[in-house]
Amino acid sequence: DTTAVSESDPTAKALNYKPLASSVDPAKSPTYKAGQMCANCQLYQGTAGSSMGPCAIFGGKQVSAKGWCTAYVKKA
Ligand code: SF4
Repeated sequence: DTTAVSESDPTAKALNYKPLASSVDPAKSPTYKAGQMCANCQLYQGTAGSSMGPCAIFGGKQVSAKGWCTAYVKKA
């Protein structure tokens, strides 16, 4: 499935997911650090260079490579 995760998705809301990491509100997501995005998150399963890809947390949907949520884990 290539359905994009919507910000109104319950899991997205719970994790403050944003399709654009640059629009993350630091007041709501104090763990966010500039430069973090799905593309460099451990849980991101997209192909390098693609604009979207699957995430282990959002089963069956795709997150934006430039997105972010509070479950972010820096890729080792
Ligand atoms: Fe993006 Fe990682 Fe959150 Fe998945 S867990 S939405 S890849 S920041």
